[in-house]
Order: sequence, then C-alpha cells, then structure tokens
Amino acid sequence: KGQRWSLKDFEIGKPLGRGKFGSVYLAREKRTKYIVAIKVLQKSQLLKAGVEHQLRREIEIQSHLRHANILRMYGYFYDNKRIYLILEYSPGGELYKKLTTRGRFSEGTTAQYISDLALALNYCHSKHVIHRDIKPENLLLGAYGEIKIADFGWSVHAPTSRRNTLCGTLDYLPPEMVEGREHDENVDVWCLGVLLYEFLTGAPPFEAEGHSATYRRISRVDLVFPRGVAEDAQDLIRKLLVKEPNKRMCLRNVPKHPWILRNTASTNSNGNS
Ligand code: ATP
Ligand code: MG
Repeated sequence: KGQRWSLKDFEIGKPLGRGKFGSVYLAREKRTKYIVAIKVLQKSQLLKAGVEHQLRREIEIQSHLRHANILRMYGYFYDNKRIYLILEYSPGGELYKKLTTRGRFSEGTTAQYISDLALALNYCHSKHVIHRDIKPENLLLGAYGEIKIADFGWSVHAPTSRRNTLCGTLDYLPPEMVEGREHDENVDVWCLGVLLYEFLTGAPPFEAEGHSATYRRISRVDLVFPRGVAEDAQDLIRKLLVKEPNKRMCLRNVPKHPWILRNTASTNSNGNS
C-alpha cells in the first residue's frame, strides 16, 4: 500500500510453524484487525547460508502475484536483526500433514487440487515466473480447503540454466533439472504430474533408495502404477510426466482432461472428502 509497516502495527499471536530460517506467527494488524501470518527470518542465518538474493527474489516475485490459489504476500519490513514477511493466513495448514494422516486423497479431492494448481501455475507462467519447487511441503490450505501455493524461495524468471545446488529430495525434479540441463516453465508441469501421482497413491513416482537410483528412475521416466489407479488418471499423469519438456501437456488443458471432468462437480462445490 506504499505504507511502511513495523512490528508496532501488529499483535503477535500463536506460532504457526517453523522453517529453516525462522518462525511463522499468527498476527493481527492493530488498526484494521486484519488477520495475517508473519514470517520472521533471522538476518544472521540468511547471511550465513548466503540466501539473501533468494529471499529478495521470493519477495519480489510473490508480492506481485494475485491469484486465489497463490498465497498472498502483503508486504515486508525489517529491523536490525530480522526480516518480517506479511503473508496471507492459511487456516487449513499444511497439505503435507493432511496427506500424511490420510495416506492419500480421493479422486475428487485430488482432481480439484490439481485443476486449481494447473491454473495457478499457468498464471505464474503468464508472468514469466516458474516455481520449480512444487511439492506437498510448499502447499497450504485455505479456509475452504482450497489449495494455496506458498514458498517461492526457489522460483525464478524464465528461462534459466541456473544450476542450483540440489539439496534435499530429488523426487520432484524433472529429468532436465537432475541432468543439469537448461529448463523452463515446463518443469512445473512435470512437478504437477509428480504431485498428481503422489496424491492418488500416497508416494511420489520415482522414489528409490538413494540419490543415484532416484536420478536414474527420473531420467528414464520409469513410471509404474500400483493397482487401483484409474486408466484415465494414468493417462493424465503420462501426459504430464513426459521426458521432453515441450511435449508435456499445456497447463491450460489440464482442467479439461476427462479424468478431471469426471471427478470435479460442475457446481464446483468440491474440495473436501
Ligand atoms: P522451509 O524452507 O524449511 O520449508 P520456510 O522458511 O520456507 O521453511 P515455511 O515453510 O514458509 O518456512 O513456514 C514454516 C511453517 O509455518 C509451514 O510449514 C506452515 O506450517 C506454517 N506456515 C507458514 N506460512 C503460513 C501461513 N501463511 N499460514 C499458515 N501457516 C503457515
Ligand atoms: Mg517451506
């Protein structure tokens, strides 16, 4: 709003979670009583890890995106020791937790999530932003159970050949990224396919013992379906998990795929089951 925020503008409530570089708290803006989430990052830790540029990009990118399925960033402020991000509060919490407790999601729930994510990612791409880190840990749930993309820490402006250090799990990375090749928006299409598989089966498709085994399975697109995954769901997954990046399905067509249409109510009242 062109306004300068400071900690004095907020009443800080309960902790919502912890991240690598700080904590997230429920907060209320004093004047308007508007509820938000405030992410507090320690400058010393950001410097030590050398990720200031990444945070700057996260702020730059996320604060300019406006979409119902993308977590809003309203602004930020800082003091000597910390940086504070003012975020949309997501009362449904982490999708990851819900997936863990349920094991997997129903076709109806999954279809709604995937359709919403496809359009949200397509919106990002229309602004030349690629997320690159779409996985259950980076998805939150809104008040109506709707999915929200959070955590733009790895996002970049497309296209890029930047070879980031691959830390953590390889499970969600596409062949071109594990192989260190140039990549573009289509990495997010691959990630959507990995998510769709995981939502329906409870585990990502290329899981293996150790990095090099996972790498090989991704590189070969070694796709195996457990029993019970519907034929038309498999068809959609196979159209997303394509080795050649520009032969992957166009995100705009995902909501029109027969499996999505079969599993989303035309009234759009789906979301919880
Ligand atoms: P990491 O890099 O380890 O994922 P992080 O620094 O990205 O950590 P977040 O994942 O953004 O931190 O936040 C930590 C946790 O706080 C989340 O997993 C989630 O449970 C909670 N949280 C974060 N943002 C919100 C929000 N806007 N609304 C509700 N809960 C949130
Ligand atoms: Mg996170």
